[in-house]
Amino acid sequence: MLGRSAPTGLGNTVSTRILFVDDEPQVRNAFLRRFRSRGWSVDVAAGADEALRLLRTREYEVLVTDLRMPKVDGLTLIEQAHTIQPFLGCVIVTGLPDLDLNSNLQRDSAIVSILPKPWDEDDLLSAIDHARAVYDERSGRSAQTSNDELTILLIEDNPGDAMLVKRYLKTGSAAPHVVVAERLSDALDRLQNESYDVVLADLSLPDARGLDCIRRLSPEAKDAALIVLTGLEDETIPVRALNLGAQDYLPKGDLTGPLLTRAIRYAMERKRVEQRMTTLACRDAMTGLWNRAAFNDRLRHALNRAKRSKEAVALLFVDLDEFKPINDTFGHDAGDLVIRDTAARIQDAVREYDVVARLGGDEFAVLITQVDDPTTPSIVAQRILENVTGRIPIGNASVAVTASVGIACSPEAGETPEQLVKSADFAMYAAKRGGRNMYRSFEDVDDPRSARRQSLVADLRASLDQDRYVLHYQPQFGLWSGKPVGAEALLRWRREDGSLVSPAEFIPLLEETGLIVDVGAYVLQEACRRLARWHADGATHMRVSVNLSAKQFDSEGLTQIVDAAIREAGIPPPALELEITESLVMRDTQITERTLREIADLGVRIALDDFGTGYSSLAYLERFDVDVLKIDRSFVSSLRPDQAKRGSLASAIIDLGHRLGLEVVAEGVETTEQLDCLRADGCDVVQGYLLGRPSEAWSPHVITSACA
Ligand code: C2E
Ligand code: CA
Ligand code: CA
Repeated sequence: MLGRSAPTGLGNTVSTRILFVDDEPQVRNAFLRRFRSRGWSVDVAAGADEALRLLRTREYEVLVTDLRMPKVDGLTLIEQAHTIQPFLGCVIVTGLPDLDLNSNLQRDSAIVSILPKPWDEDDLLSAIDHARAVYDERSGRSAQTSNDELTILLIEDNPGDAMLVKRYLKTGSAAPHVVVAERLSDALDRLQNESYDVVLADLSLPDARGLDCIRRLSPEAKDAALIVLTGLEDETIPVRALNLGAQDYLPKGDLTGPLLTRAIRYAMERKRVEQRMTTLACRDAMTGLWNRAAFNDRLRHALNRAKRSKEAVALLFVDLDEFKPINDTFGHDAGDLVIRDTAARIQDAVREYDVVARLGGDEFAVLITQVDDPTTPSIVAQRILENVTGRIPIGNASVAVTASVGIACSPEAGETPEQLVKSADFAMYAAKRGGRNMYRSFEDVDDPRSARRQSLVADLRASLDQDRYVLHYQPQFGLWSGKPVGAEALLRWRREDGSLVSPAEFIPLLEETGLIVDVGAYVLQEACRRLARWHADGATHMRVSVNLSAKQFDSEGLTQIVDAAIREAGIPPPALELEITESLVMRDTQITERTLREIADLGVRIALDDFGTGYSSLAYLERFDVDVLKIDRSFVSSLRPDQAKRGSLASAIIDLGHRLGLEVVAEGVETTEQLDCLRADGCDVVQGYLLGRPSEAWSPHVITSACA
């Protein structure tokens, strides 16, 4: 903000950084065409989320926003934008002429103008000009903070000198708040616990002298501008002081009130610019995350500190699955959008003080320090997977995004940055090999005979005989009748301490060790038995769905196991439904085709789970005997009431399913709005937290009120 010239009136030539927000792509394009050609730097966002994300990574002078947008309206956006960039000048464009916005305009001086849509170009130009002038005024005013708001730490052991400096600081109209420290140790203490705008330091103190003083001060000064005062007659000191991180240098003999005040302003400004430059040098330009160099630096520091304090550090590598096809199919702009969106989603999944970096391409890293609970890294990894999984709209299409995560913890997986990075990378590739959209820990993949893993596997194996595999049932309701039509069996593992572990945490290990075949057989038997009890209780229309993993599917004798489970429980085969994923079907092996046919021949129904997340081909749907499509959660969670008219992806899938004569189940229904959309779209069956969470004791006689 140094040396920026004032606006020069209508259509001025000063380059202005503008963020334009509107949910209509045509309006955004129109704005871009008009204003980029003026040499202004314009970014566009389709909604408040995207706008706020941009505001966190870049500085703007003017925000131009639509008023009425789907999730967050323009007024709320402006309010939130000002918490990030307080000086922004804001312009609202709106197609709603009769809204009484003038009261807002009066109340909130941040909104500079309100214009009707479609806009008159000259009006818009002068509104932007005006907003820019407001920005200049606000930011300029804040840069010239008057002395009386400043807090200054004066490090000076000579009482006479201290008094003199204090008197100089009081000249003029203002009186800054001055705290005096007589020893460097006292000053360092204060800097750790208190915050200062400026540090004025004498270079000869009882406990430190000369450059040593600066060396110890500058890392602690953080946000404070550091000005060195000295009576020493060494001409090399000024330059070296600046090199060591001080912002300015003043010989005591030359001090006057005005000189000191000017030096303080200059030093503060310089500190701000320096901080901004450091941030820029450490940040990835596209996402605003740390870049690789800065990340390596922080990793090194964290490992050094961890070595001293004996605490654990965890490194997570996150790599998008199938990113290349997105780039190749939709182009680089689309790829960039996915990267930026993913960056924000990862950031949302971690604590504020965890370090998130983009290492390049579609590769991200997260550094977690002070890990005191060994389960923390996997919990964070799971949260990242959940956040990242979803669909990102691109033009008229949308792409499914998932990621694979590798975890490496020091000291076990390495004590140097290089080792730890290698281990995390290794674990990440294990997650890819394991089928993607999952996390793996180096400890588990590194050495199959590692003690930790061996005992876990032994525990998982023993659990079969100890009844420590438990099934929870999540109800499914007919969307028209509101009555339960079935339930999905979801596996849980009970640890010896009684806590329940979710399938995401142990199913990969079951698959890898082949244990999934026996555990899966148990799940089938148990679910069929439970269904038989429901039928015996009179709920004869009920079905039960069981998830199958690819490993199970490929194992010998699946058909026999299914057949035996049905016979033993004495249930009609069509009351059992097997859920398989799209990717499993897509592998296109003859075995897949044969097994599917055998199962269908038993009379058992097949559901395609998580439908829409893979790259499905219609040909497969027609070729295989599938009975049910389960729309993936991500489509359901993105349903908005106003989409019902325009047609959502969910409605397209429902339509597709019906055309192929399939039943369509929507999972992950959490709100009544989603339910309404699904009903409007003609979905058959619904399942989700809104209607019932998975539970051990669920009974088909419980009826939900949510569907009514
Ligand atoms: P899935 O088949 O997609 O199962 C649905 C998951 O979504 C379940 O998580 C369920 O608890 C959760 N869910 C249900 N309603 C909602 C909702 O409204 N909102 C949200 N956010 N989530 C909801 P869970 O039980 O943790 O299961 C995770 C995955 O583990 C399952 O995903 C399935 O792929 C696998 N799995 C579960 N049981 C078995 C099993 O017996 N065998 C095999 N091979 N895999 C299983
Ligand atoms: Ca399922
Ligand atoms: Ca599912």
